[in-house]
Amino acid sequence: MPDCIIVGGGAIGLLTARQLFLQGVDVLLLEKGALGGESSWAGGGIISPLYPWRYDDSVNVLAERSKVVYPELVRTLFEETGSDCELINSGLFTVVNDDQQAILSWAKKWSVEASFVEDFDSIHAIEKSVGDAVNKGIWMPDIMQIRNPKLVDALKASFDYLSIPYQEQTSVTEIIVEDNKVSGVRTKQKTFFADKVIVASGAWSAQFSATRSSVDVLPVKGQMIMYKGEPGLVKRIVLSEGHYIIPRKDGRILAGSTLEKIGFDKTVSSAALDELHHAAVELVPLLETLPVERQWAGLRPGTEKGIPYICQHDDVEGLFVHAGHFRNGIVLGVASSELMVDIILQRAPRCDVTPYSMGAAH
Ligand SMILES: Cc1cc2nc3c(=O)[nH]c(=O)nc-3n(C[C@H](O)[C@H](O)[C@H](O)COP(=O)(O)OP(=O)(O)OC[C@H]3O[C@@H](n4cnc5c(N)ncnc54)[C@H](O)[C@@H]3O)c2cc1C
Repeated sequence: MPDCIIVGGGAIGLLTARQLFLQGVDVLLLEKGALGGESSWAGGGIISPLYPWRYDDSVNVLAERSKVVYPELVRTLFEETGSDCELINSGLFTVVNDDQQAILSWAKKWSVEASFVEDFDSIHAIEKSVGDAVNKGIWMPDIMQIRNPKLVDALKASFDYLSIPYQEQTSVTEIIVEDNKVSGVRTKQKTFFADKVIVASGAWSAQFSATRSSVDVLPVKGQMIMYKGEPGLVKRIVLSEGHYIIPRKDGRILAGSTLEKIGFDKTVSSAALDELHHAAVELVPLLETLPVERQWAGLRPGTEKGIPYICQHDDVEGLFVHAGHFRNGIVLGVASSELMVDIILQRAPRCDVTPYSMGAAH
């Protein structure tokens, strides 16, 4: 019998299970589909919230910690598995109309290098491909990106390398609770017993009777398109009004993303393709000439303020929730998994965990 069952094998479940395992906990991760096949695959992999100064400190503290940990994690995954997650320092140029002083105060508080740029030559020295719509903004040269499908592949390979137990195609249908205490989970095939269960089921985290009324996480669909280009055509991440361009190492260029609250629906639409293409061409006109190679959608685990649950359930002993990272699960996941592990092992956490508790506003 494992000490701890993790329900869901997205980035959050994978990172949590791996860290617990490395601390000597007997884990079992159960995933209803393939590991890393949902939102964690579909995202953009920017290692920063899009507009971090608009978020609560509780989000920023996780983002800043993850930025420190990611290079070491990626190095370790490469040593273990030979998989390169393509963590690269692209920098991020954001077209903004927000209060400059507030942004600079945020940058100072979190020690993020950031400067305002509003002349054509300086902007084009940062990213030569941008169009006239990119006429002023904030340049953050140290923002990284990771190729998130490669991250989840590397995490899966690390599970195989370290022999961390997991089962794919295993949908948890019920969390077993007796006398306000968790004792395991039921799947269609069998029952698994454990004294601790972590719900890390992304957009599906409120589906269990034990979490339905207490966990406020809803699916928020995001559509994305990908162009096939040549390496070096675009070098920087460019963002304006929630639309962004992410250049990958091999020349592919992602353009995202929509925000749609329409339930568990992952169909892609031609309207979204038009919206994303139009916004992308405004930012980087040369995209007009490149073929769109692929379009997809993912379901973000949406919370109102983007503050994840990283906590023990208020009413059920042994039940933990690690979910609701909304638009930022890739950047926040590494640090929030550290916190989840501290909570489970009853160690002093690295920061105040009150904002991530069940009763807090998420
Ligand atoms: C278009 C888009 C762009 C994004 N861009 C970024 C970005 O640039 N940077 C960033 O940090 N974040 C980004 N995100 C957000 C990020 O992808 C998510 O916050 C993160 O992937 C959430 O991880 P997760 O593990 O909680 O969810 P998921 O990856 O969805 O994993 C949850 C897993 O739980 C499994 N599951 C569900 N129910 C059950 C069950 N009953 N039994 C067993 N398994 C179950 C699912 O199959 C799934 O694999 C983006 C998301 C989208 C959609």
